[in-house]
Amino acid sequence: MTDYSKIIQKEPFISVAKTANKLNIKVFVIGGFVRDLLLNRPGNDVDFVVLDSGIDFARHLASIFGKGAKVRYFKNFGTAMIRYKNWELEFVGARKESYRTDSRKPIVENGSIEDDQRRRDFTINALSIGLNKTDFGKLYDPFNGLDDMDKKLIRTPLDPDLTFSDDPLRMMRAVRFATQLDFNIEEKTLEAISRNKNRISIVSQERIIDELNKIILTEKPSTGFKLLEYTGLLGEFFPAFVQLKGVEKINGKGHKDNFYHTLEVLDNISKTSDDLWLRWAAILHDIAKPITKRYDPKSGWTFHGHEFIGARMVPGLFKKLKLPMNEKMRYVQKLVRLHLRPIVLAQDIVTDSAIRRLLYDAGDDIDDLMKLCDADITSKNEAKVRRYLKNFQLVRRKLKEVEEKDRIRNWQPPVTGEIIMETFGLKPSKTVGEIKTTIREAILDGKIHNSYEEAYPFMIQVGKEMGLTIVDNRHMPGTTKNTTPSD
Ligand code: ATP
Repeated sequence: MTDYSKIIQKEPFISVAKTANKLNIKVFVIGGFVRDLLLNRPGNDVDFVVLDSGIDFARHLASIFGKGAKVRYFKNFGTAMIRYKNWELEFVGARKESYRTDSRKPIVENGSIEDDQRRRDFTINALSIGLNKTDFGKLYDPFNGLDDMDKKLIRTPLDPDLTFSDDPLRMMRAVRFATQLDFNIEEKTLEAISRNKNRISIVSQERIIDELNKIILTEKPSTGFKLLEYTGLLGEFFPAFVQLKGVEKINGKGHKDNFYHTLEVLDNISKTSDDLWLRWAAILHDIAKPITKRYDPKSGWTFHGHEFIGARMVPGLFKKLKLPMNEKMRYVQKLVRLHLRPIVLAQDIVTDSAIRRLLYDAGDDIDDLMKLCDADITSKNEAKVRRYLKNFQLVRRKLKEVEEKDRIRNWQPPVTGEIIMETFGLKPSKTVGEIKTTIREAILDGKIHNSYEEAYPFMIQVGKEMGLTIVDNRHMPGTTKNTTPSD
């Protein structure tokens, strides 16, 4: 028998063991903490199973910890949580569960430790260690989880059809753990996921997206997406992504498989950024390719406008997937819309105005956009990859030069709406917006400089051309009372 007493001969386990002996209640460490301990990466979240009331147990333990401990009770579930130092300790009574076919809500009764282990999702998550005097440090492993750890296998403790049908979210979790830990899903378990894939429909979209985001945040998210696609789960909740798959050929000419291309871009970006939303931008950057695909006998396959149509698809996809409909969504949308722009700027003859426009449109997200562009290079031809990367370095240089000169990032045109309204005696209206846009465009095009001295007379000229008269000239440059914006 393997003895783990040495590794748990420390807090908070010592206090938990003391409480267990004092109350004469059996208690075990279980789940992710044990798994991660065996993988040599112990965490701070620990789950305990108590063969009695989790709530009473936690109450006693909290009194041993004293003032520093914060306890919360979840009476409906019979569980309790203690935060103490940097630990998060959860106590649950051992449960025996059975499920009905139409719902995830189980019928729960008290059970033994083995009953509790049986209702866990995977053998590697069902490992538990005893904390009582008689079994301190003893590993309970009725489903050979240790063996699966060695073999790097994700396997369900019971018949996988039963485990997945009881709680279909476990199918997503299987893929997530395989991706996070770089494990394989055991064959029968994998087959059962394919068989039960449509049961995922009874799981809330919030729980699904939570698991998907965890997959996206791993070191190599493509592994997870390939498993989701292979089992058919992906098509159940994200069909637009599956549409990217496949190669069509006409007259012997094919295009690249955009599913695998997108996954390569996602893996590439994951090497340079931990940001979930930049990773989502990679996932969605070519999402409109299937619907914009055309074959032209002269130029071959084209996907004209896929960046604009893709950007327009983003809100609908975010809503359906239950991703946030806030600035994160707008950020992803912006990157999808702009992802081809730097390619054009890599050409030799590029005007400063084109550079200024991109700086204006991308704002503070310009660096992320350039990262996405680098990641989007997935050619197998190394010379090509080097050439494209060099081109983007050139674009970065040009962006830097123009930004230093013109300060376009987060820029506001020097003439405000108030100045326009006061000068021409206008109420807030469309005309004010039109004048403002004309001034902004003239500056971005380089027709006038980005200064108040040039923008003001230009505004007067635009106003006159629109038939407006000047009613107030206190904003004229050089006038003592004029408002001189910082730019
Ligand atoms: P991580 O902290 O990385 O998410 P974890 O394994 O600790 O990993 P939790 O979601 O915190 O994951 O779950 C803790 C434990 O509870 C798991 O190890 C597993 O034993 C059990 N568990 C969680 N969700 C389920 C589920 N849907 N079905 C069965 N058992 C589950």
